[in-house]
Amino acid sequence: MLIVMHHQASASEIEAVEAAVKALGLRAEPIPGSERTAIGVLGNQGYVDDSSIRELAGVRDVIHVSKPYKMVSRDFHPAPTVVDAGGVLIGGENAPVMIAGPCSIESEEQMLTAAQQVKAAGGKILRGGAFKPRTGPHSFQGLGVEGLKYLRLAGDESGLPVITEVMRIEQLDDVCRYADILQIGARNMQNFDLLKEVGKLDVPVLLKRGMSATIEEFLAAAEYIVAEGNGQVVLCERGIRTFERATRNTLDLSVVPLIRELSHLPIIVDPSHATGKRTLVPVMTKAALVAGAHGIMVEVHPDPDKALCDGAQSLTGEGFATLMQEVDRLLACLGSCDTQ
Ligand code: PEP
Ligand code: MN
Repeated sequence: MLIVMHHQASASEIEAVEAAVKALGLRAEPIPGSERTAIGVLGNQGYVDDSSIRELAGVRDVIHVSKPYKMVSRDFHPAPTVVDAGGVLIGGENAPVMIAGPCSIESEEQMLTAAQQVKAAGGKILRGGAFKPRTGPHSFQGLGVEGLKYLRLAGDESGLPVITEVMRIEQLDDVCRYADILQIGARNMQNFDLLKEVGKLDVPVLLKRGMSATIEEFLAAAEYIVAEGNGQVVLCERGIRTFERATRNTLDLSVVPLIRELSHLPIIVDPSHATGKRTLVPVMTKAALVAGAHGIMVEVHPDPDKALCDGAQSLTGEGFATLMQEVDRLLACLGSCDTQ
């Protein structure tokens, strides 16, 4: 529920409304705006009888929010959230952030080389998976904690913060010891126990859209994390499952402007998993930036033909460097023509 106050409502009227909300056993969260204050009501598990609130002095309107998410919505939090991802700012007016690195961490040498390529080209965050959610059990499942150590080393050597996927609650201690940002993958977007646990931590989280998740489900998943107290959430569109098999997934780019409307959380795009094809990654990266993405996550491998995972969609170091030059030119152009 959202209580909208008259623009001339006094501080004591606002306090009286907050007290009335608390008297119902609910939480009141004032949302100051440039025109008027609103008060978000949290903690209800169903419809709230608003009769004790609607008639109070200074109240202009009471809006019942039927969506399964509130705290991540623009209604409750009009200002954009900026996530501090290991010192790199994502969201708001900050320049789009390029996250790059291999799908899987395969060896110390591979990770150090990839990190050096990502850094040299201008990438800001290094990725690499140690716990891999593979479709079949016979595929490479990742190096686990050994891989996390290589990722941390590569991040430290290159000066890049690092992101890696966590699949289970039991992996959280290890992943938090070595990573700056936690990734929750598409397959775990609705692993609600994991989301709640990550919500109790003070660590930034990249939440990927489930492969068949609606926008409402995606935002409701983010709500699980934010509702536990961790507001440092970045959303990631990575393509959804459709009838089309010519691409690995179907990149749903319209969610970028839509999520910017519905939520204050940053939204980035992963064109690698969305397309599954290296040749499509550069153009879809640029399309995502035009659509307003706050960042991009791409897979980059020193030798994609030998990659243990997702080689077909991985750029080479040189390919990434070329893409970064194109991105720089595009961003300069967007800055001067303001498409948003
Ligand atoms: C990944 O980023 O390596 C990954 C497994 O992505 P997704 O969860 O989007 O499939
Ligand atoms: Mn991958």
